[in-house]
This record gives sequence, structure tokens and C-alpha cells, in this order.
Amino acid sequence: MLKKLDKTGFNQLAATIAGPILLPGDADYDTVRRVHNGMIDKRPAVIVRCTGVADAVDAVQFAVSHDLEIAVRGGGHNVAGRAVCDGGVMIDMSLMKGIRVDPARQTATVQPGVNWGEFNRETLVHGLATTGGAVSSTGVAGLTLGGGFGYLMGKYGFTIDNLVAAELVTAGGKVLQASETENADLFWGLRGGGGNFGVVTSLEFQLHPLGQTVEGGVIGYSFDQASDVLEFYRTQTADLPDELSIIASLTHAPDGSGTPLAAMIACHCGSPDTAKPAINEIKAFGKPYFDRLGTIPYAQLNTVLDAGFPKLAFNYWKSSFITELTGEVIAILAERFRACPSPMSKLILEHFHGAATRHSPDEMAFAHRQPGYNVLIIAQWADAQDSEVNIAWARQTYAALEPHMSEGVYSNYMGDDETATRVRRAYGQNFERLTALKARYDPHNHFHLNQNIPPAS
Ligand SMILES: Cc1cc2nc3c(=O)[nH]c(=O)nc-3n(C[C@H](O)[C@H](O)[C@H](O)COP(=O)(O)OP(=O)(O)OC[C@H]3O[C@@H](n4cnc5c(N)ncnc54)[C@H](O)[C@@H]3O)c2cc1C
Repeated sequence: MLKKLDKTGFNQLAATIAGPILLPGDADYDTVRRVHNGMIDKRPAVIVRCTGVADAVDAVQFAVSHDLEIAVRGGGHNVAGRAVCDGGVMIDMSLMKGIRVDPARQTATVQPGVNWGEFNRETLVHGLATTGGAVSSTGVAGLTLGGGFGYLMGKYGFTIDNLVAAELVTAGGKVLQASETENADLFWGLRGGGGNFGVVTSLEFQLHPLGQTVEGGVIGYSFDQASDVLEFYRTQTADLPDELSIIASLTHAPDGSGTPLAAMIACHCGSPDTAKPAINEIKAFGKPYFDRLGTIPYAQLNTVLDAGFPKLAFNYWKSSFITELTGEVIAILAERFRACPSPMSKLILEHFHGAATRHSPDEMAFAHRQPGYNVLIIAQWADAQDSEVNIAWARQTYAALEPHMSEGVYSNYMGDDETATRVRRAYGQNFERLTALKARYDPHNHFHLNQNIPPAS
């Protein structure tokens, strides 16, 4: 049974924390407690807006000593909405936006409130980048802790493959450094184990030289060409250079008309000599409805999908990995999209190859390294009254695809209603090792508002 926050407890907290503390009724409380997914409408007993590591330590110690539930917020993008809780303490890291780029070592050290738009802006000043999220407002912290897919993953691996160190506050209030040489077991677990081990207060990444521009962008086709586009996508992705990543999507026209489309979003980070012919091959396919493939600033490419994901829209997602994009799968995708009840919803295929697939599944907590695809069913709508029909569409679409999917699932795309079996599958073959690590670093499971790893008994 969780205790209620009394006046004395709050006064003790307020006396130590440097950042703002918000209680129900405070001016910013209702804005700060809301996350990306409009379905999530939770009311913490207190929101601690950390401005430094010491705030995070005090917030954790306060929550633990008062037996209050802990939710940790980075960018607030996770659709499961576990960055916020009813009652309990929301430890909000979103004010911690420090970014330090070391151009000589080609590294970036960032605080956990940074999003990918802010990250790219600073690293690109030095002509450097690393794999990061495709929507600029997604938080660096949550995305990294779950794995991290992005346009550069064929060349440089997932975001976790570029994490070189992290700092973490444990449930006991200790501040630990984690890297290959310090607390290496924890470092292994942080790269895919999500927020299960504590509050991450700093992340250091390996960066890579990247021109200000890449070749890529979006190309869209009328929906009656959907099967042909997805077959072309399958052929293209069968043999891609590491530098080229392509996402396919059944989506709606960005002009707000609701016109259904089949689209591809590409990024080639290699030299223009090799990039341009590869992108021209895509441009030459079929009769596009629109073609915005070409030379594009890398930072801009990482915003082209932003408008399709408005904050506070209602979201319900289902996903799983799939090894083969068979004709049958393509037919199901097209048929299910035809039945889509919302002009905001999408079906997305992300493709994995190259560097992302050249790590062994036990090298770090994230276990899914097989070449193939992720199928992401995104139900998104604007009116609360439409929730039932949109959730039903996502579930039925998932049910239709499930026989073709592999067991694995990406923890960062999981919702709030996943079964224990699915959560276990998110950690794959590393689940048992993660439960032992959880028992070591968070034996009482204080950090359980996540895709939870139970501590081994
Ligand atoms: C529009 C949109 C686009 C997306 N695009 C991509 C993409 O391109 N690639 C990709 O891989 N994923 C993508 N995602 C999924 C994304 O990786 C997850 O939603 C991720 O959890 C977001 O991290 P966050 O910090 O923004 O979220 P939050 O909701 O703030 O955090 C999610 C969880 O991470 C943990 N966490 C966050 N910060 C900390 C911290 N400092 N310390 C400890 N634990 C913490 C907590 O458990 C928290 O509940 C996208 C999501 C959305 C909504």
C-alpha cells in the first residue's frame, strides 16, 4: 500500500530540491504531467523537476523513504505513458538539457532532458552525428535505454551501439558510472533494459563524421500502388549498403486531405557519388504522388515525420519484428490499411541490416539483432470518442499479422496493456540475466513503471 504525501514530507522535499516542485493545483502541474500520448492522463502526488544529479538523488530517496511510486520522465514520448503515475513521484528530467560535444574525441555527453532535435543541432555544428530517433521531439534518454532505431543504424548500429558511458542514480540514492570498464554489468543492462535500473542522469555517445546534408527524404504513391511499392521495398531492402536505410509506410497525405498513400522514407549517409545513384533508383520507381527525395540537411530529415505525430493525439500502438516481408504479409498490410478508421494512423516497416545486425544478441541487453523488419501499427486519432474503434483496428491488424511475426518485440514501442509474456519477449534471450541484474541494482523493484523486469528471487 503506497503512502500519501503529507505536508511535512513535502516541506522536507521542497527544502532540498533546486528545481521546481509541482503539486496538484500549481500553475504548470497540468501541462507538465501530460506526455506525448493523449490517452495518458495521470496525476502524480508531486512532480520533481530536476535541474541536476543531486535533485535526482533527493527525489529518489524521498520517494523510496515515503514508499511512493516512482515514474521517470525523459522526453515523455513513450506511448505506454509510464513516465507519469497516479499518486507517487514523477521525476521529471526534461529540464536537464545540457549537451557537451567533444569534437576531438567525437563524443557527445548529454543530460536526460535532451531530445533528438536538440542533440542533432549541437553535434552537427561539428559535422558529427549518431543514430537517433526519426522524430525530433523524442527523448534521447528513453529511446537509448530501449535500443534506439534511426536512419543511421545500417552504418553505425542502434543508438545503444554508440553509447559509451552513462551515469545513474540507484534506488539506494548512489550515483554510479557505467561503461565497459566501470560497473560493466550495469552498462550491459542499460543498453536495452530500459529504465529498470535507476534514473539516468548523463549519457555519453560516440559520434561519427556526417556532412550537413544527406541524400534522402520522402516519396509517396497513391494507395492503389501500395502492394507494388511494398514489393519494390522488399527488393530494395534485400541488398542495401550500410549507408542506406529505408522505412516504408502506409500512411495519409501530409496535406491533411486524408488521402491514403504508400510512402518510403530514405536516408543515404554515404558520399554523394554513391548516394545519388542509390536514391535515383528509388525515384525511378513507379509514378509518385509526390517526390521529396534529394539532397536534404540531416537535421531536417529528422523532422519530416514530426507533423504526423502531434503531441496529445490519442495513440495506441502494436508491433513485432518480422523476418520476411512475404507477399501474404504485404497483402494483409494493404487490406488492413484500407480498413483504417483514422486519417492519422499509419502502418510502418523499419528495416534492419548492416551494423545494427552485426552484434551478437548477448553483447548487451537488447537481444534483437536479426536482419529483417519491424512492423509498427500506429493507431492515432484526435477525438476521445473514437478510441474504441481505433484500438480495435490496431488489435485486429496485429491479430491478422501475428502468425507471420517473430516472437520478438521492441520494448520502446510497447503499450500499457502488454502481457507478461510479451514483456519477456522484448528482452528475448537476455531476460534471465536481466532479472539477476535487476535483483542486484533494484531488488525491491522501485523502478517498475517501465516494461518491467522483475528482480530474480
Ligand atoms: C512520435 C514518436 C516517434 C518515435 N520514433 C522513434 C524512433 O525513430 N526510433 C526509436 O527507437 N524509437 C522511437 N520512438 C519510441 C521511443 O523510443 C520511446 O517512446 C522512448 O521511450 C521515448 O523516450 P522518451 O525519453 O521520450 O520517453 P519517456 O516517456 O519520457 O520515457 C520512457 C521511459 O523510459 C524510461 N526513462 C526515460 N528517461 C529516463 C531516465 N533519465 N532514466 C531512467 N529511465 C528513463 C522510463 O522508464 C520511462 O517510462 C518514437 C516514439 C514516438 C511517440
